[in-house]
Amino acid sequence: REPVGRPAATRVFVVANQKGGVGKTTSTVNIAAALSELGQRVLVIDLDPQGNASTALNIEHRQGTPGTYDVLVDGVSLAEVIQSCPDCDTLDVVPATIDLAGAEIELVSVVAREGRLKKAISAHPLVGSAALAGEERYDYLLIDCPPSLGLLTLNALVAGAEMMIPIQAEYYALEGLGQLLATVDMVRAHLNPDLAVSTIVLTMYDARTRLAAGVAQEVREHFGDQVLKTAIPRSVRVSEAPSYGQTVMTYDPSSPGALSYLEAAREIAIRGSVR
Ligand code: ADP
Ligand code: MG
Repeated sequence: REPVGRPAATRVFVVANQKGGVGKTTSTVNIAAALSELGQRVLVIDLDPQGNASTALNIEHRQGTPGTYDVLVDGVSLAEVIQSCPDCDTLDVVPATIDLAGAEIELVSVVAREGRLKKAISAHPLVGSAALAGEERYDYLLIDCPPSLGLLTLNALVAGAEMMIPIQAEYYALEGLGQLLATVDMVRAHLNPDLAVSTIVLTMYDARTRLAAGVAQEVREHFGDQVLKTAIPRSVRVSEAPSYGQTVMTYDPSSPGALSYLEAAREIAIRGSVR
């Protein structure tokens, strides 16, 4: 697993799609683990009250465990809530607990409520350019969003520069994307001019069906170079891994799912930030 070069500064990815079950969490944790295998320093921020990314990365996230909730609602620093992933050398996680479910409502009365995550990320000493943040800096931050376009996802869109949209290669794939892209435009116009959709990942791709091929073609026509060349195949190994508290990268490293996520991570690293 040949390492790739590190980016000049931390790249912050928002993994979002308001549709549930499209592979946001699966792509977040596996691309994060793959990037780590490729020699990158990675931080995953779990922004979904379900805490699926925390589970998959084997990170403690019982109710009351310090995590994203404390950062957003109480202004606790990232450094105080970061845990390191037991199975990867260079992968850290900010866990999400069920407490986060109340955050959307609790944040309503907070000043600059949509900028809380950005503030916390910017304040972290290991985020930024190599010159400022040093060799130990994070190369990649991946924010796993909940399946909605509420205040949590908005915090991510304000905090990040690159958006990664997982799209499941199935019939309704493009439905709802209009709303997502309109939200991105709104955020770009009013809150975060740096935001760009840099990466589309086709997930649960079944090469045997004409439907999947058709959807993939449609997505590629619509988004062009933003779509990763590597599509992630549907594979039982990928869906089994979380129940062992593992990513597919460690659960079955030579499986097609693991190899595809490794290839996807390599593409992301090599092409830098596509605008
Ligand atoms: P989201 O975070 O968008 O809600 P998940 O990543 O949790 O979606 O994925 C939804 C379901 O699909 C999960 O049960 C997951 O294990 C399964 N899944 C995701 N990617 C794959 C894949 N490549 N092959 C098989 N199952 C997958
Ligand atoms: Mg999820």
